[in-house]
Amino acid sequence: MKLLFLGTAAAEGIPAIFCSCPVCRTARERKGKDIRTRSQALLDRTILFDFPPDTYAHYISSGFSGCDLPAIRYLFITHSHGDHLYPLELNLRKPNFANPPLETLHIYGSRAVEEAFQAGEESFSPCNEFHRAKPFETLKAGDYRITPLPALHDRREECLFYAAEHEGKALLYAHDTGFFPPPVWDYFSKAALRFNLISLDCTTMMHKEGNNHMGIPDAIEVKKRLHDIGAADEKTVFVLNHFSHNGGLNHDELCLAAEKEGFIPAYDGLEIEI
Ligand SMILES: [Zn+2]
Ligand SMILES: [Zn+2]
Ligand SMILES: [Zn+2]
Repeated sequence: MKLLFLGTAAAEGIPAIFCSCPVCRTARERKGKDIRTRSQALLDRTILFDFPPDTYAHYISSGFSGCDLPAIRYLFITHSHGDHLYPLELNLRKPNFANPPLETLHIYGSRAVEEAFQAGEESFSPCNEFHRAKPFETLKAGDYRITPLPALHDRREECLFYAAEHEGKALLYAHDTGFFPPPVWDYFSKAALRFNLISLDCTTMMHKEGNNHMGIPDAIEVKKRLHDIGAADEKTVFVLNHFSHNGGLNHDELCLAAEKEGFIPAYDGLEIEI
């Protein structure tokens, strides 16, 4: 499994579009890993997690590292927030916007995600097929088993994060979420999953949160509990991702705080193979 982090910021990006705080000013000066676009990741050039407004920028800047975006067939959306779902762009898969006609893109998400699509004009073109994802009901996407899990995030809708399994490897992509709810821990215990790669929410960076997002103190607790129940071991790679400028750190400072706790802070373009 190879996970490519295309974007690693929370809703407003870093530098945030209208912000002049020290983190954003420093990001503008340093550029490089301090520039963060909205969160999106690509698994094995096959499965896309989330579809933020920066998808187009990811495609033209990195070319998805050689992946042909029109050829991607599986898209898993975590929730309907605008930094994770930009339905308009998916509507441009219609004939004449995209030639030659495309194969079906299978899009998975909650009821709120489905409603967000329906609110957009003609979002269900013949080459987009929506599938309702439900917590703990494992889905098949090609050769991959994808299990949606309930996130502690926006209480007005069902937010999901995803576990992916393929050829004996397992990945957990957990954004946006606070501390995992009890049913998730029960599921991990019963499913006897052992993850090779775990990407945890770290929106608030140094600050403890846990109720909507996470910071490093929460990620330390989650990591310990995952080890305690056997869902992670000493070989599991732990990544932090989905950062807000309000967390107060630029990339180098974030590395100092995270690496000593056994975490790799993601940056736009990071690829991890497990
Ligand atoms: Zn977000
Ligand atoms: Zn800022
Ligand atoms: Zn969100």
